[in-house]
This record gives sequence, structure tokens and C-alpha cells, in this order.
Amino acid sequence: MTTPVGNEFQSPMYHEAAGQFDRVARLMGLDDNVADRLRVPQKSTMVSFPFRRDTYSEVETLFGYRVQHLTTMGPTKGGIRYAADVDLGEVAALAMLMTWKCAIVGVPFGGAKGGVRVDPMGLSRAELQRVTRRFTMEIINVIGPETDIPAPDLGTNEQVMAWLMDTYSQHVGHSVPAVVTGKPPALGGSVARREATGRGLMFLLPQAAGIRQMNPNELTIAIHGFGNVGRYAAIAGHQMGLRIAAVSDISGALYDPEGLDVDAVAKWVDENRFLEGFPDADFIDGDKIFVLPVDVLVPAAIQNVIRADNAGDIQAKIVIEGANGPTTIEGDDILRERGILVIPDILANAGGVTVSYFEWVQDVQKYFWTENEVVARLREIMTRAFSDVHNVALNEDVDLRTAALIKGIRKVADAKLVRGIFP
Ligand code: NAD
Repeated sequence: MTTPVGNEFQSPMYHEAAGQFDRVARLMGLDDNVADRLRVPQKSTMVSFPFRRDTYSEVETLFGYRVQHLTTMGPTKGGIRYAADVDLGEVAALAMLMTWKCAIVGVPFGGAKGGVRVDPMGLSRAELQRVTRRFTMEIINVIGPETDIPAPDLGTNEQVMAWLMDTYSQHVGHSVPAVVTGKPPALGGSVARREATGRGLMFLLPQAAGIRQMNPNELTIAIHGFGNVGRYAAIAGHQMGLRIAAVSDISGALYDPEGLDVDAVAKWVDENRFLEGFPDADFIDGDKIFVLPVDVLVPAAIQNVIRADNAGDIQAKIVIEGANGPTTIEGDDILRERGILVIPDILANAGGVTVSYFEWVQDVQKYFWTENEVVARLREIMTRAFSDVHNVALNEDVDLRTAALIKGIRKVADAKLVRGIFP
């Protein structure tokens, strides 16, 4: 087994991602040489750069990362996150998860991820723009529409993608919409990309409920996180007639067992930024959301939130992972022992990269689809991927996470073997 020299990638999240990979690689009997190769990213860029605060005299040094896990399948693809604790290991782990995710839904990308270690909550709009433009310049030689295509993630959004696209385009001298996805439709963004990840999660509910013999029309749902993923999952669930009993953000959680008025909550957040203060529901501690009496729990904020210390208290029968890496290996073991069905991140939240792929195709072809076309194709891909993974789970007698990893790793390993080794 390869141990990266100096343990460059070591971090709790890399430990989780590599641990999952090692377990499944052994189970599959994956060739050791291929396993060693897939265990570490192919290309990692780490930069530091100066960042001037709005107070002119304040200059900080920020760290940024772009990790490309696998270049075998096509360009690499993955989000850029802004978070106070992001590091190389976390980004490397997320890049690896992106590789499996792309393979599971069958989009022709390898995995990548990027990040800047900065608290986005503490940035003014002007500061956010300066960080984005300078970080883009720092990684400009490793991104591009045929090489590596970023997208939004935790702490970044459509506006950040617009600045990234503009910076890249200024640099090369002409507009290059296909260098990034998740940008505003006015710049070549796809309709329905904004809603894609949350909507994709909800598309899987009927199949998941079917496995547990639950009525898919009567599910109650709690969602941790009310950003891009959580908010649009809540809206999609609400539109499907399901009861969204609780949602949370960094300020805390709203709870109403009868079901929240999701549109009113979204409007409140647009006007007040945080959930706290919303008048028509109980406001409870954010961590309580994990143990509420609901049918479905959707972690859609940050990683490592379902752990050994709370997995035993979860009352939901189904967990759909909107966030990347929300469940630790120990937490996962407890959920499995308790018979809780977990739809893993690399399957559940693949709606985002799927519509990002649609966006890239539309940008490259300069031919744009209608919302109905995007949503219908998203639904088809998500439900087919679920069935494929479920079939692997039945055939191999494994849980859905293991099955999803088997499907993703097998596809990538096959491609690697037929491409061979250069030179
Ligand atoms: P976002 O920044 O739009 O929203 C994050 C949400 O989490 C916010 O409600 C925020 O208040 C909350 N949050 C942040 N830090 C928290 C903390 N310490 N404790 C509790 N809540 C906290 O981010 P997003 O794009 O919705 O991404 C959320 C997760 O989904 C991430 O793990 C991301 O990698 C994953 N994901 C996102 C996409 C996408 O298309 N945006 C696609 C696939 C996976």
C-alpha cells in the first residue's frame, strides 16, 4: 500500500475517504498496483497569496488548493470551497470522492476539488471578489474547459463562479463560459443547476422508501444545512408534498413536527441571512436535528456530523447524504448495525455534478436546453444510477455505500487498465 511521503494528505477526511477506498478495494480484489495509483491524487497544487482586507493596511496570507485526483476519464471536475479549516488532505479526499461520483452517474470526468482556507462569513462582497480573482490567477494554469472545470461548493456560489469565469476569460482574452459550472444563467450557466443537487436527492426518495417498504408520499424530513443543497432539497421535498419538519444552518435549527412553510423560511433567509429569528417555528440547537423523530435525515452542510457519539440516537429510517463525507466510518458502522438505510454521498448528491456536466455540454456546444429537458435528464440519470447501485448491493450482498464504491472504482480501474502506463 502506498503511504504518501511525509503524509501530505493526512487529515480526518482523507483518512475517511482512503479508509473507505482501501476496504472496498480489498473486497473487490482490486489489483494492488491500480489500488496504489488510485489511492493518491495525480496532481496537487498548493498556493499561498496575499489578500488585502477592505481596511487597506490589513494584508493576510491565505492558502489555497486545487487537487486533481484522476485525469484518466476526461477533464477533471469538482467544486471550490471556502472554509476556515480547509486543508490539502480535505481537498484531496473530496477530489477522490468526486472521481467515484462521476463514474457512478456516468459523466466523462475525473474528480477534482479546490479550496481556500478563509471564513467566507467574515468577508465583505468586495473581499470575496478579491479572494476569488487572486485565487483563480494562482491556479489559472491548471484549470480550463478541457483540463479541469471548477464549480461551487461550501461557502461559494454562482457569483463566485462568475468572477472565476471572468478572471479566466480576461486572462486568455476571450469569453470561456465552459471553464466553470454553476455560474449564473446570464453567463452560460444551465437552468436548473442551482436546484440540481437538492432536487437530485429528493428524486431518490421513492426508491429508497421502496426498499424500506415505507410510503414515499408520507415521509417526514429533517435537513441539516440550508445553503444550496439543503434549501433546494427542502423546496423539492415540499413541492412533492412531503413534510419538512426541520431545517438548520450555522445559527441553529427550526422545528415544526407539522411541517415548516419552506417558502416562508427561504424568504426569511434571503432577507435575514440566518434561520435564527424566524417567527413561525421552534428554534432549537442545530445538533438536535440529527435525533428528531423523522423518517428521513438529510445531512446537507458539512462533513463528519454523524459519528459514533450520535449515530445510536438517530431515529430516522433513511439517511440521504447531501453533504460530502457527513458520516464517519464509525458512525456508518452503527447506522448499518441499526438497519438504517444510508444513501451515500457519491450517489445521493451526484445531481450537482450531473447538471454541471449538462452545463459544460451546453457551453461547449453553445446550444442551451429548456428547464424541462434538464430536469427530465437529471431524473433519468439519478434514478438509473440508484437502480444500478442497488443491483450491485443485492448481487454482492453489501450496503449501498460499498455498492456505490464498487461501481465507481470498477469503472475507473477498467479505464486505467486499458489506457495502460505511459511511457
Ligand atoms: P452552502 O455554503 O451553500 O451551505 C452550507 C450550509 O451549511 C449553510 O446553511 C450553512 O449555514 C451551514 N453550515 C456551514 N457550516 C456549518 C457548521 N459548522 N455547522 C452547521 N451548519 C453549518 O454549501 P452547499 O453548496 O449547500 O454545500 C453543502 C454540502 O454539500 C458540502 O458538503 C458540499 O461539498 C456538498 N455538495 C454541494 C454541491 C453543490 O452543488 N453545491 C454538490 C454536491 C455536494
